[in-house]
Amino acid sequence: MTTFAALAPDSDLVRGLYIVAFVLFIVGVRQGTHPTTAKRGNLLAAVGMAVAVATTLALDGIGNWELIIAAIVVGTAVGAVASIRVQMTAMPQMVALYNGVGGGAVALIAWSEFREELHLIDDGTIAEIPLEIFVPVLFAMVVGSVSFWGSLIAFGKLQDLIPTQPVKVPGQQLINAVLLVGIVAACIYLGINNDDPDQGIFIAVLIAAAILGNLVVLPIGGADMPVVISLLNAFTGLSAAAAGFSLDNVALIVAGTLVGSSGTILTMEMATAMNRSVANILFAGFGGAPAGGAAAGGEERPHRSIGAQDAAISLAYADSVVIVPGYGLAVAQAQHAVKEMADELEKRGVTVNYAIHPVAGRMPGHMNVLLAEADVPYDKLREMDEINPEMPRTDVAVVIGANDVTNPAAKNDPDSPIAGMPIIEVNEAQQVIVIKRSLSPGFAGIDNDLFYEDNTSMLFSDAKAAAQEIAGEVEDL
Ligand code: NDP
Repeated sequence: MTTFAALAPDSDLVRGLYIVAFVLFIVGVRQGTHPTTAKRGNLLAAVGMAVAVATTLALDGIGNWELIIAAIVVGTAVGAVASIRVQMTAMPQMVALYNGVGGGAVALIAWSEFREELHLIDDGTIAEIPLEIFVPVLFAMVVGSVSFWGSLIAFGKLQDLIPTQPVKVPGQQLINAVLLVGIVAACIYLGINNDDPDQGIFIAVLIAAAILGNLVVLPIGGADMPVVISLLNAFTGLSAAAAGFSLDNVALIVAGTLVGSSGTILTMEMATAMNRSVANILFAGFGGAPAGGAAAGGEERPHRSIGAQDAAISLAYADSVVIVPGYGLAVAQAQHAVKEMADELEKRGVTVNYAIHPVAGRMPGHMNVLLAEADVPYDKLREMDEINPEMPRTDVAVVIGANDVTNPAAKNDPDSPIAGMPIIEVNEAQQVIVIKRSLSPGFAGIDNDLFYEDNTSMLFSDAKAAAQEIAGEVEDL
């Protein structure tokens, strides 16, 4: 093994470089909160990570360069190809996969650190593993393993590799509770016997944590996966911070804590936007199962449908139009066509705004990113609370590939699975045009009462084709 003697871990230079990296992380995250600065923020955080990695690699005692270089080459190649090829709609599963890899790496680091400490006991260098090292190692190993396996299941569900429906196994909660209690008890036993800890028990805990990660995420419906991923992301951050304590690496502690806290905040924000508790998301087995009228393949409820030409006439003669984008717009990659349609309307003096629901699409900020890509001005993207009071004064609300986030049942039906979820109140507008391919339900798997209201017209089409057609019709008027 080649070893380069270089920077001492506690030198001022190393501390200074790590502080530079942390400042870049924090400024990067801060800039990520606004679309105008988000790209720069991402770049700053990436530079911060490069500084932290380079500093760590320059530390005294770092060796195994062949493996390190091979890992950097493979990681860079996979990351670069994925960032170019993965579609925006597949971003949640990509985040799940990357997050899982992070958790798995932490669990393996914890195991390797444990073996290192065992070796030190065996050769008489130390008498026992100090608890300030052992406790973080155990924490990192358990949480990292749960996060790895949970993230893989989340990836499989979002990628349709495994069924997205909530899978309810009798006694599931009890099995999970027994596993959790067993893991905690085994960790306490290992900690008490820190002068001669049994590697077999350590590995058994690692396996039990892996089973727990699978069992916790399997029963959760696909619709809730983005929240689960955000939660597991927070777990990975916390486990990385714990690994940082055991390795005495301040960069890992700070980066892990940042990921842990931002993941926790994001999880809470998403849960609030759906008016559900995190416990309900984890244990209620929500979504995935189609229900109600058209969704269940039952008798179709009466609704009005129109073509692009009629839609164009309604829109062109309106004073104010609000566009409500949703997941279908992302799937159809309709953002540029929608911008073209809005441009045509604005040329005729129509005021056009966009109503952004916090969980429209499949991840927070999904719609903002897509519309920013099509150069829609940021001041036209109006948040739900800001646009809802304007809905009664809106002539036409055009719902494009959105469904759950406009479902009035969330407000009117206390028995609805999405009861209490805040919605974009398009049903309050004078006229509503819904562009989607059929009456099928959205991610929550429930029928949308909006489609059957008197002031709603359905335009059954792919979002991009419809927006292009309407833009052409408006131009020709
Ligand atoms: P939905 O998933 O409710 O509905 C999307 C609709 O798009 C579908 O009904 C589908 O209807 C339509 N669609 C699909 N492809 C096309 C196409 N090519 N052209 C036109 N329409 C299309 O989306 P929303 O954005 O309204 O709601 C998001 C859902 O995701 C909510 O349930 C939310 O809770 C959930 N969620 C979101 C998170 C986030 O962070 N954003 C996090 C967790 C959950 P059809 O097949 O008939 O075309």
